[in-house]
Amino acid sequence: MTTLDMNIFDEIESNVRGYCRAWPTVFDTASGSWLRDEDGRDYLDFFAGAGALNYGHNNPVLKQALVDYVMRDGITHGLDMSTVAKRRLLETIQTTLLEPRDLDYKVQFPGPTGANAVEAALKLARKVTGRTTILNFTNAFHGMTLGALAVTGNAAKRAGAGVPLLHATPMPFDGYLPEGGDDPFVWMETILDDASSGVDKPAAVIVETVQGEGGVNIASVEWLRSLAQLCADREILLIVDDVQMGCGRTGPFFSFEAADITPDIVTLSKSIGGYGLPMALVLMKPELDQWAPGEHNGTFRGNNPAFVTAQVALEHYWSDTLLSTGTLAKGELVHRNLSKLTESFQGLSTRGRGLVHGLVFDEPSQAGKVCQAAFERGLLTETSGASDEVVKLLPPLTITSAELEHGLGILAESVGVVCEGAH
Ligand code: PMP
Repeated sequence: MTTLDMNIFDEIESNVRGYCRAWPTVFDTASGSWLRDEDGRDYLDFFAGAGALNYGHNNPVLKQALVDYVMRDGITHGLDMSTVAKRRLLETIQTTLLEPRDLDYKVQFPGPTGANAVEAALKLARKVTGRTTILNFTNAFHGMTLGALAVTGNAAKRAGAGVPLLHATPMPFDGYLPEGGDDPFVWMETILDDASSGVDKPAAVIVETVQGEGGVNIASVEWLRSLAQLCADREILLIVDDVQMGCGRTGPFFSFEAADITPDIVTLSKSIGGYGLPMALVLMKPELDQWAPGEHNGTFRGNNPAFVTAQVALEHYWSDTLLSTGTLAKGELVHRNLSKLTESFQGLSTRGRGLVHGLVFDEPSQAGKVCQAAFERGLLTETSGASDEVVKLLPPLTITSAELEHGLGILAESVGVVCEGAH
């Protein structure tokens, strides 16, 4: 056992650091669904790089492709130059993702983060429509840059902007209004159809089908269909931000497939690179591709090693339905276990889809305590929601059922410690 040396982090790393406070150890290696710290202690990962590691850590199939590519001096930094790696990726996107789903999208490579994809989507929607307003949703999360922050709900994150966050009009997400509250669609339709409502006609609506950061809030397929119809009827563009819920998190590759809707614009990042390497995409209907060359650019749009792992991930995991059906089956297992917990303890509820689940605490502070107890027992989970009242479970999709049960056992024990202690 070494003694954890944390001094340098306290000394010179900015106060802005976050996760290391919840998980006070120094991680060193990782494989599959496990991380190991420098003392050799193993942690089961129910966090998956905030959704960037759907295929697990250092996935051997992706690693081999990456190592081969690096060893043959494949292009590493490519801006938006045409490369062999990018051609293979685009071909695979076409044959594996788009054609089988009858989707007709053009593909933009923005800077390699979710926020950059969102910025590009918002800019494009405004450019194409000539309108400025964006309708967003309560408790939404779209990233930390100013445009993305303007359509994000979280008060603390918004406060960090330092300037007014403009040109966004928040609407109630599915389930936001209390029981008996008005139908949100009546409200939206009424204000959109009244020229004097005070809400300018929006360029676009931006929505997450499941709000990950906002507390695992789930939009029903009916709600999503109504939203898509509302947009189509009024020539408002529909942007689905699939940065966290895409790449199979909810079962199918795109989270909107369950609702059988076709967004005008889709943002992807996090797990699209496959290996945890930075990469993002904006998919847009062809007629919306009105960018001038270089109008949205960025030095790191051409992270070619990520293109290699993205391509192999698509080919390996999305040429058949094994991963998506496995995700749904494992999601059922999670749901059954969490339901048992909600029956055993008061003040708890659960919600989820595919392999994203939330354990919601009536007493918000308990969620953080459960995550801490879980960490002490070797399980990584984080909180989400407006008051950090939700323990969010986001395991790699490649996790085994045995690993899943092991982690759920730790979670149950942690809930027991926190909730029984509270009586
Ligand atoms: N959109 C959604 C739905 C997200 O969950 C996130 C990140 N949590 C982002 C955008 C921003 O992505 P990034 O942190 O890579 O900028």
